[in-house]
Amino acid sequence: MRSTRPDHGHGPESAGQAQLSAGPAGPGRARVLIVEDEPALLRALRIDLRARGYEVQTATTGRDALALASQRPPDVVLLDLGLPDGDGTAVITKLRSWSQAPVIVLSGRTSAQDKIGALDAGADDYVTKPFAMDELLARLRAVLRRDDGIRPGAVVTIGRSRIDLAAHTVTRDGPAGEPGPAAVREGTPDPDPDPVPEPEPEPEPVHLTRTEWRLLEILLRSPGQLIPASRLLGEVWGEGHDHHAHYLRFHMAGLRRKLEDDPPRPRHLLTEPGMGYRYQP
Ligand code: CA
Repeated sequence: MRSTRPDHGHGPESAGQAQLSAGPAGPGRARVLIVEDEPALLRALRIDLRARGYEVQTATTGRDALALASQRPPDVVLLDLGLPDGDGTAVITKLRSWSQAPVIVLSGRTSAQDKIGALDAGADDYVTKPFAMDELLARLRAVLRRDDGIRPGAVVTIGRSRIDLAAHTVTRDGPAGEPGPAAVREGTPDPDPDPVPEPEPEPEPVHLTRTEWRLLEILLRSPGQLIPASRLLGEVWGEGHDHHAHYLRFHMAGLRRKLEDDPPRPRHLLTEPGMGYRYQP
């Protein structure tokens, strides 16, 4: 087997463009491998992530990225798709043969085909360039959190809906903030100085179908993360339903109608067009 250790590398470019720029690693620091051939963006990412306490490794080619990842396995990979030595999707496929580290694709390509190709190869999320650094950081935290997602038994709220995952029940409060009727009319002496508190509206039970429950549980398990449509279809309907994206649209619309405060403008059960769905806490 060929060694990938840098001190053994005498081949062309072996010391290469791969560069280890890790600071002193403390325990619990997540190691991010950035694979990007655009120098300005690579530099900006490196500076930003290091400033936020991440340990950073960088590579500018797919080959160097895979070599680095095998030497020092990253906790998460940020991957450009257009690399000088080939397509980033091929890097994901190779990486996935031995690593489960989450991969966030950074790409200027916006077609559904590109996104689906990367997700099917095993990417965990997809950020379209140009992106806001805050958004990338949020996605990064989300994929790093995926192992401590919501446990069965937790109670999750979506707007005024309260979802009890253990009891398999959903209740929904009435609209809040309605002021009670004025107790005292002008000029009328108050016959009863103790104001009668407005009764709290009883939460109403919401019925979810079996399919809606299954979809919701998968989404809630991974807060903030993109769940590819293909994975949802596979987990809920089984293999061979990849072309049934309309099932998902139908049942997700049902979930939004029942759970979101403003279903046409959902804030928690989000569609990522051409890619999948996301539960945003
Ligand atoms: Ca590129």
